[in-house]
Amino acid sequence: MQEWPLRLMRLVDHAERANARQEIVSSWPDGRVTRTSWGQVAHDARRMAQALQRLGMRKGDRIATLAMNHDRHLVGWYGAAGMGGVLHTLNPRLSDEHLVFIANHAEDRVLVYDRSFAPLVSRLKPFWRTIEHYICFDDEFPAWLDAETGDYAWVGGDERDPCGLCYTSGTTGEPKGVLYEHRSTVLHALAEIQPDCFDLSARSVVAPIVPMFHANAWGIPWAAPLTGCKLVLSADFDPGRIAELFREEAVTHSAAVPTVWLEMIKHVEETGASLGSLEKVTIGGSAAPRAMIDWFRRRGITVGHAWGMTELSPIGTLAGPPAEWDMMTDIEQLDYAARQGRTLFGVELRTVDDQGRELPRDGVSSGMLQARGAWVVQRYFKAPADAIDADGWFDTGDVATLHPDGSMQITDRAKDVIKSGGEWISSIELENAAVGCPGVAEAAAIGLPHPKWDERPLLCIVRQPESRLSEAQVRAHLVGRIPRWWLPDAIEFVDSLPHTATGKLSKKDLREQFADYVFP
Ligand code: ADP
Repeated sequence: MQEWPLRLMRLVDHAERANARQEIVSSWPDGRVTRTSWGQVAHDARRMAQALQRLGMRKGDRIATLAMNHDRHLVGWYGAAGMGGVLHTLNPRLSDEHLVFIANHAEDRVLVYDRSFAPLVSRLKPFWRTIEHYICFDDEFPAWLDAETGDYAWVGGDERDPCGLCYTSGTTGEPKGVLYEHRSTVLHALAEIQPDCFDLSARSVVAPIVPMFHANAWGIPWAAPLTGCKLVLSADFDPGRIAELFREEAVTHSAAVPTVWLEMIKHVEETGASLGSLEKVTIGGSAAPRAMIDWFRRRGITVGHAWGMTELSPIGTLAGPPAEWDMMTDIEQLDYAARQGRTLFGVELRTVDDQGRELPRDGVSSGMLQARGAWVVQRYFKAPADAIDADGWFDTGDVATLHPDGSMQITDRAKDVIKSGGEWISSIELENAAVGCPGVAEAAAIGLPHPKWDERPLLCIVRQPESRLSEAQVRAHLVGRIPRWWLPDAIEFVDSLPHTATGKLSKKDLREQFADYVFP
């Protein structure tokens, strides 16, 4: 057979040949909607690659972006990769300190950014040591491309060449960079379009609400050109605007973290807005509450519950319906969908105990979750040593149970597990049960020191607007839904909960907030 390196630019080449006129829609914060096509994106990416070379950029150089989801950002991705560069998506919601550390560590040479982030850029410019060129997507970008012909051949090379760089958000210590390769990214994209994963085809209209700076919008902008589906990008998160976009562009598939879906559900409940032709939503990044999965199901929308992490490019598992689906009761289906799903071909998982001994896949044993595979990290960027053991296993930092039916269930992050009297309480399950209580908008459980039990759970709740929910009502709801000894020692009603730069509950901040808390 032929040698055919799995290089990223083959994706957009393919879309240009097979689906040149397929639309890519961008919705801008000022309400404008603009349209381009895969053919135009391929052409613009060639012009951008030319322009980067004119600036003196060379193969392997890091090209950073600081931008929301829109077609210019998409051109930026393919343009950077097309000239052999390494695309580095910066997350604008990180702290100044982390943004300075990350761009310096990556040695970014060019930064292409949205005008809305101009204040951030001018604030950090003095601290960014390696960035030589600043290009604004809204201002100079179009003219910068117009100066080029687009008569350009992509920079070639080995399929194991690097093409992308993402940093973990640094919830534990300093941010760490994960360097993606052409091959790993193409294989990940191929795996993602499968029916049991994102289920994309030429007839799909996919709107990744997950930002392109959050683990590459979970790879959707790389996967879309494989199928030639229509891509709908929204540069803002207003649920009303997104619902409108879903209706106007006949969006069939979407993906976002639970916090974003929570806002969307609130909007639909308050306004009665329709979600148009939405068929499938992917929920991931943190555990999808049962009540959320059920909400979509009742509207005939399939839920794909995904688990992954930056180190896994990011998709590891997805809970697509198994073969027995139609024979399962409603409750069984919901139980299944609330788990994190089966592994995609290309990723292997196992759980181990404290001594590193592999645990049985019996649906009961819970241990440290490890992964290895074609798009799993081997070594962090610039790290002196590998992040895997001798057999290739990478420790995910999650605690999980593997079920005999092949599905995986996350119990918790190792650092969020509540350790009470030598046993573990899953903060995720506790939150899940609480969110199912009418009147609860959001819930977070953390372990706080306890003289007798080591740690005991504190449950923090944000009420739905107008709700006058009481502690006793929450307790009554929890009884029977979780083991009795998991019942929180205290329930605190709060106005809001802290979130991380990727929209996840920040347990670290919450623990700090309640550091001096004493159980009543
Ligand atoms: P960070 O670790 O910096 O927040 P990631 O976005 O890579 O950045 O987060 C990965 C982590 O998110 C996983 O290790 C896991 O703890 C959590 N996570 C992702 N998806 C799920 C899910 N479906 N259920 C529970 N936890 C999840």
